[in-house]
Amino acid sequence: MREAPADNVFGRILRGELPSFAVYNDEHTYAFLDIFPSAPGHTLVIPRSWASTVADARPQDLAACMHTLQRLIPAVMKATGAHGVNVVSNNGPAAGQTIDYLHFHIVPRFSDDRLALNVPGSAADADALAEMAAAIHRSLLEQS
Ligand code: 5GP
Repeated sequence: MREAPADNVFGRILRGELPSFAVYNDEHTYAFLDIFPSAPGHTLVIPRSWASTVADARPQDLAACMHTLQRLIPAVMKATGAHGVNVVSNNGPAAGQTIDYLHFHIVPRFSDDRLALNVPGSAADADALAEMAAAIHRSLLEQS
């Protein structure tokens, strides 16, 4: 079990030092409403054991978060009437992570909500894709 730094906002919420609107709670995870929601019902799921990002989390904590997401998503959809959800985890400041505590957003979505979460890409060149796949394979081999 890893403790978050003392001043970490989500660590403080977990310890009950800051208030939150809990929606789910078990031995390994905690889920609560985002106070600046992108849509009503916007929920955050965190592991009780602190990690900054997916990459540095313990596998069992990631599994616990996925399990909680599976349970919560239908409940959030039913409570909000949403047609779908985005499950998002911003990892690193460059990706928009503002709180240094791994979390998964559940953002309720409606067919016509126009939330700017789906960013269009452009078709990639096949050679560039092949080079990139090879570079990632090399990185994986260096990691193991
Ligand atoms: P990030 O930008 O790191 O992916 O997401 C952090 C989320 O935490 C944001 O959506 C933000 O609205 C939410 N947030 C920030 N401070 C608090 C807080 O004190 N309580 C709650 N419940 N949510 C917070």
